[in-house]
Amino acid sequence: ALPSTPALQKAFHKPSSKPAVFIPVDRSPEIQEARLKLPILAEEQVIMEAINENPVVIICGETGSGKTTQVPQFLYEAGYASSDGIIGITEPRRVAAVSMSHRVAKEMNLSHRVVSYQIRYEGNVTDETKIKFMTDGVLLKEIQKDFLLLKYKVIIIDEAHERSVYTDILIGLLSRIVPLRGKKGQPMKLIIMSATLRVEDFTDNQKLFPAVPPAIQVDARQFPVTVHFNKRTPVDDYNGECFRKVCKIHRMLPAGGILVFLTGQAEVNSLCRRLRKAFPFHKNKTEGDEEKEESVEETRKFKKSKQKKTMPLPKIDLNSYSVLPVDEGDEDREAEMDDDEDAVGSDIDLDLGDDGLEEGEKSNSSLPLYVLPLYSLLAPEKQAKVFRPPPLGTRLCVVATNVAETSLTIPSIKYVVDCGKVKKRFYDKVTGVSSFRVTWTSQASANQRAGRAGRTEPGHCYRLYSSAVFSDFEKFSPPEITRRPVEDLILQMKALNIEKVINFPFPTPPPTEALAAAEELLIALGALQEPPKTGRPAVSEEETEKLKGKKARVIQMRRIWAGQGPFQKLGDLMVMLGAVGACEYAGCTPKFCEANGLRYKAMVEIRRLRGQLTTAVNSVCPDAGLFVDPKMKPPTETQVTYLRQIVLAGLGDHIARRIQAEELLDEKWKNAYKTPLLDDPVFIHPNSVLFKQLPEFVVYQEIVETTQMYMKGVSAVESEWIPVLLPPYCHFGKPLENPPPFYCPETGRIRCHRPSVFYRVGWQLPAVEV
Ligand code: ADP
Ligand code: MG
Repeated sequence: ALPSTPALQKAFHKPSSKPAVFIPVDRSPEIQEARLKLPILAEEQVIMEAINENPVVIICGETGSGKTTQVPQFLYEAGYASSDGIIGITEPRRVAAVSMSHRVAKEMNLSHRVVSYQIRYEGNVTDETKIKFMTDGVLLKEIQKDFLLLKYKVIIIDEAHERSVYTDILIGLLSRIVPLRGKKGQPMKLIIMSATLRVEDFTDNQKLFPAVPPAIQVDARQFPVTVHFNKRTPVDDYNGECFRKVCKIHRMLPAGGILVFLTGQAEVNSLCRRLRKAFPFHKNKTEGDEEKEESVEETRKFKKSKQKKTMPLPKIDLNSYSVLPVDEGDEDREAEMDDDEDAVGSDIDLDLGDDGLEEGEKSNSSLPLYVLPLYSLLAPEKQAKVFRPPPLGTRLCVVATNVAETSLTIPSIKYVVDCGKVKKRFYDKVTGVSSFRVTWTSQASANQRAGRAGRTEPGHCYRLYSSAVFSDFEKFSPPEITRRPVEDLILQMKALNIEKVINFPFPTPPPTEALAAAEELLIALGALQEPPKTGRPAVSEEETEKLKGKKARVIQMRRIWAGQGPFQKLGDLMVMLGAVGACEYAGCTPKFCEANGLRYKAMVEIRRLRGQLTTAVNSVCPDAGLFVDPKMKPPTETQVTYLRQIVLAGLGDHIARRIQAEELLDEKWKNAYKTPLLDDPVFIHPNSVLFKQLPEFVVYQEIVETTQMYMKGVSAVESEWIPVLLPPYCHFGKPLENPPPFYCPETGRIRCHRPSVFYRVGWQLPAVEV
């Protein structure tokens, strides 16, 4: 068999420094033809020579140029996957890892046993696997087990421009692993791939790569994209503006797919609904169902009050986690109540006038609009729809979050509508408060978005903001590592057995002082003692997030799961425990999750996480003999008390005290709490089961800032526990006379009771024995 591309054939006729290994691949003629059109194919020889001759190579190329799908194939054909090592590719997003492994398997006509993927708990890797797509988190975990990554011959870090924390840590680690492998006589290659050219952080970084790695630029075959700015200063209602723009494009401009960029799942679903209403067409049954499902989230908030009256409460067996099945028919009710809000029709503003849309161009108003959402949490089958051609006689309109910016290339998009915004999580480094904020995106991202319009023919990008605003955008988004709390970063890195975080070769290092200060804090907290290495409870914010589901129903279920009296004091964590327990009891079926507003995938993930934690505990502590018992009973009152104490010990810096009557300056702070970290008062989130209880002391998992600052994931704690479980946070006063000090024979120390005060805020706490 001959190499499949002209470039490679040439390379094989030329005497090369490398052995002419060639592993034939049996591609279909259609695939072969499509491949040859990709710009990266012209660079195959340059790329392979650079890789053969250098341990580290950087490849930059426009989205869609073929980096992700083709480079692993080049390496495979050149014999880089063999019995003594395979090709690994990391992606920052799960979506990309899964869908790219499918695509490459298909292109190479190989089975998923050979071209496989591994994401956190899911994968199809086998002994035959030669090309393995994975999330960056998975590779980090593997480094923990095998620091030299001996099973890989090549590691490709894809989407490096995204600069996710994991990617940055991986690049830092690999910068050390690659030379070590060389010394060992088992060389490994590192390939860093990036969409936008911003490689200085990797190349001009002596600490990272002392020998500057070659950077290969792949020129994309990109058709011109005409960018239209709004003349007006940015509108607040960019959702409405997006809607109007899509309507206008669809009514007035020639055929061609539309891609809209919005900031989040809720916005995406809402716009999809509005568009489907404005341009309905007769859908088959499945599509109708799907639409209903997608709009559920959106309408939930409107339904809450109605459902309170109408939804039957599920019956619960108080001796176990079992929940009896609910009435069928809820679904219908939901459909009935579905969307009377948000009605559209008459308010379509056709007179925007300043956006380059010429009236009188061929009208497509008769054409139905085939509207598809795209965001990371969308089920893979639904995501895959965007790659298929739309039904005949319709125009494709994909409404997406920034997943469509670089990781997935949607074919035949001619018009891009860019709201210019992005939703980002921000952490206040001083207070540890995190909030999601919608902000302007960067110039690099906006240009990426525009580029999506020129893949198959010349296109247009409609920016819903003025060129003046664009020129004020940051050039690039700052790496995630600079926006994250340093404490979390240190914990993560220590868990990877990286001891000297301060010396770590970060592509963009956080300030040294911040690292040092964070490390001190963590030691004070006891989080860096071994074992365990994690400071925070296992039910993370991520899982809380995933418990979102049928919201109204969840609110009812929450109350049930929260229990009564002493049980309720564990608060929102009791609810999570109840949800997980009930779901396990019911066999963790999709049906149960659906009926109780739980996300099935999240439940499966939690189940696996439990398994993993159980194994970890058993391996450290063989006598523990833990196992995940699906019929586990809910905790006893005493166990709940222990759980609350564990939570307090792990969340010492997330404590809050209700503002006392004598401190109350303003009635509006009546139910508010004070925390040691923030000047402003905070409130218990209305969704919390402790919203009305208002215990004096609570710990929370996070503070989210919306109209107010709200604590989420709240548990009540007792004041007398605080000085005992969080001594580094307290000052202790003079020993009390009564009861008198006493000698402790076990420690040989004099024990006495001392009053304690919580630092900074000066809360007087009960006296404790110290
Ligand atoms: P890059 O990584 O440089 O952004 P890719 O390798 O992801 O580029 O994409 C190369 C081409 O393969 C694009 O034209 C894209 O549309 C196509 N492609 C990728 N995934 C699929 C898929 N699942 N189905 C059809 N085409 C796909
Ligand atoms: Mg890619």
